[in-house]
Amino acid sequence: MRILVTGGAGFIGSHYVRTMLAGGYPGYEQARVTVLDKLTYAGNRDNVPLGHPLLELVEGDVCDRDLLRELLPGHDAVVHFAAESHVDRSLASADAFIRTNVQGTQVLLDACVAAGVARVVHVSTDEVYGSIPEGSWTEEWPLLPNSPYAASKAASDLIARAYWRTHGLDLSITRCSNNFGPHQHPEKLIPLFITNLLEGEQVPLYGDGLNVREWLHVDDHSRAIQLVLTRGRAGEIYNVGGGNEQTNLAVTERLLELCGADHARIRRVADRKGHDLRYSLDETKIREELGYTPRIEFGQGLADTVAWYRDNVHWWKASKEQARG
Ligand code: NAD
Repeated sequence: MRILVTGGAGFIGSHYVRTMLAGGYPGYEQARVTVLDKLTYAGNRDNVPLGHPLLELVEGDVCDRDLLRELLPGHDAVVHFAAESHVDRSLASADAFIRTNVQGTQVLLDACVAAGVARVVHVSTDEVYGSIPEGSWTEEWPLLPNSPYAASKAASDLIARAYWRTHGLDLSITRCSNNFGPHQHPEKLIPLFITNLLEGEQVPLYGDGLNVREWLHVDDHSRAIQLVLTRGRAGEIYNVGGGNEQTNLAVTERLLELCGADHARIRRVADRKGHDLRYSLDETKIREELGYTPRIEFGQGLADTVAWYRDNVHWWKASKEQARG
C-alpha cells in the first residue's frame, strides 16, 4: 500500500501522517507514505518523522502538473489536505487560495485519473455551507460560502465530486468543523490565544465574541478521514463534526483559565469582514454508515493542547516572529 498525502507537513495532514506511521490505523501499519507539500509558511518539515523508513517527503506544489504526473503512479490512495487555510489571509488577498485550492485540486485529480489511483479522499470544510443561525447542516445542504477561503474550498469540493461523476474516480469528500490540537500554526484562534497568553500578551477577540464554532480534535478528525478512506462510498460526502459548539468568548474564557490569566487580557477588536455567525454539522451519516464518534472531550483536549504549546515553545516561536514580520 502506498499513500500520497498532500499538505502532510501542515497541521491536520501531519497529524494524520504521524498517526499512520506510528501504526495507529489498523491494516496500514506497513503503508508507505509520500508527503507532497510546498512547505509554505504553514508547512513545517519537522511536523513529520523525517527519518522514518516508510516516509518520503517531497517538497512540491499541487499545481505542478509535471511533478504530479511523475509522482503519482504507483500510489494506491491519495488524501488531499493541501490548501491555503486561513480565512483572514483570504480577505487580504485571495490569489493563492484560488490557485492552490481550486486549480491545485483540479491538477491533482487529473493526475490521479491519469495514474489510475484507486481511492481518493478530498478534505473539505463546513465553511462551504455558509452560516446557519439554528439547526445543523446535512450533506444535502446547498453551498453558500461567504469568505474567499470558503468559496475556494466550495469550488474544489465541487471539482472533486465532478471527477467522481465524470471520470469514475473512486473519491469521497469530508466536510469537517474547526479543528484544534497540537502543531496548529499560531495564526489560528486557539493557538494564537494560547501563545499570546503564554507570552503575557492580550488576545484579540473579534466583535462581541458570540460567533459559534463546532470544535473537533485533530485526532478525531484524522480517524474519521481514515474511516472514510477505507469504508466510505465513492461520490459521497461525509460531515465530520466535533458535536461541541462554543462561542469564541467561551473558548477564550476556558483558555484564560487554563493559562492562569484574567479577563483583562481580552482585547476586543473590530469584527472580521463577513464573519459567519454559526457553524453546525449534522453528522448522522458518518455515525450511522461508518460508526464514527468523536472520542476526545473538548475540555480535556483543550487542556492537553495548552500543555503541548507550553512544552513546545521552540515549535511556535519562529512562526510567530515570522508572522509579526
Ligand atoms: P494548514 O494550513 O496547517 O496546512 C496546509 C498545508 O498545505 C501546509 O503544510 C502547506 O505547506 C501545504 N500547502 C499549501 N499550499 C500548497 C501547495 N500549493 N502545494 C502543496 N502543498 C501546499 O492547514 P490545515 O489546518 O492542516 O488544513 C488541512 C485541510 O483541512 C485544508 O484543506 C483545510 O481547508 C481543511 N480544513 C481545516 C480545518 C481546520 O480547522 N484547520 C477545518 C476544516 C477544513
